Amino acid sequence: MSLFEQAKRHSWRMLFATIFAILFVVGVDQIYGHSTIAFAIAIVALIWLNMPMMRFNCPRCGQNAFLRRFVLLPWPNRTCSKCKLELDR
Ligand SMILES: [Zn+2]
Repeated sequence: MSLFEQAKRHSWRMLFATIFAILFVVGVDQIYGHSTIAFAIAIVALIWLNMPMMRFNCPRCGQNAFLRRFVLLPWPNRTCSKCKLELDR
């Protein structure tokens, strides 16, 4: 599987994790009347789940696939933003 495909899968996982985290916080808030701790848990879990993002680097120059020049986006590049290597092959 190409780097782009793997990075894309990671993006989808993160999207579902984010939706789940929001539902979790809202759910806890509804049941217990406060969600400060649930919110903290959700943030830590999301950061932890997002760790593999750092591994999606261009095999030629090492540029992260999610990085457009200096901006980090939640969707990966099809071509490396630095050396223009095609990451979907
Ligand atoms: Zn590159």
